[in-house]
Amino acid sequence: MHTYRIGLDLGSTAAKAALLGNDDEVVDLLLDTSGDPPNQMAERLVGAFRQKHGFGEAGVVATGYGRALAGLAGKKVTEITCHARGVRLLHPDCASILDIGGQDAKAIRLGPDGGVEDFAMNDRCAAGTGSFLEVAARRYKIGIAELSSFCGDDPNSGAEAEAFEISSTCVVFAESELIGLNARGVPPREALRAVHRAIAKRVVLLLKQVSARGPLYFTGGVARNTTLRSAVGAASGLEPRLAEHAQFTGAIGAALFV
Ligand code: ADP
Repeated sequence: MHTYRIGLDLGSTAAKAALLGNDDEVVDLLLDTSGDPPNQMAERLVGAFRQKHGFGEAGVVATGYGRALAGLAGKKVTEITCHARGVRLLHPDCASILDIGGQDAKAIRLGPDGGVEDFAMNDRCAAGTGSFLEVAARRYKIGIAELSSFCGDDPNSGAEAEAFEISSTCVVFAESELIGLNARGVPPREALRAVHRAIAKRVVLLLKQVSARGPLYFTGGVARNTTLRSAVGAASGLEPRLAEHAQFTGAIGAALFV
């Protein structure tokens, strides 16, 4: 008999759902970025899985910022634990994780058995998260998914590299620095590369805090940004690898707790 397990990661900007089969295989993944209350997104995502795959009952475990509101989840587990479990399922060699979402960033160091040895989180300040990239991309009218092809893979290359820096540790001030760069006629590509370097600098502090070591896997929606991935690589000396199903590792990990 086929039994399904559902993991929900109710994040601050997107709700993610993972459906796992008998052998821990990923059967389906769904994303909801509607911004509706977490309980509504949770019900819709579970309903969509039911309809698509035609099953009655399935165990549900929720994680993420909005997990407390997921009434239909039998259990709630913290994000750190779920990310660790999800990434290790997909990448058994993983020693550390960097997760960057819309509103927070986390660094996690794992032990040889995959357990969490140490973690650090930045959820107070948006400067090291996806929201800074969104603010900056919006300013130059570039889509978030196009940002890395616009900036190129190496944010430290180019004649102008290092000439422009964004030093503010707060998005509000960083945005005024960006306006300043614009007023000085700095090309958008250089200004946006500086944004990536500034985020990488903040993220590296988190990695240092937990004494992260490789292999380091990058998760969260922002992991798809290749410019940031190489900026973090250059600033940390580690080579972040893009985790499989990067935005869904928390949801996949949650499903493993059913
Ligand atoms: P959260 O768990 O905080 O809701 P996610 O891990 O789901 O966050 O990531 C959401 C963030 O991912 C958004 O803020 C968005 O900026 C970013 N993002 C989404 N798609 C892409 C993409 N193709 N390239 C780069 N960043 C992306």
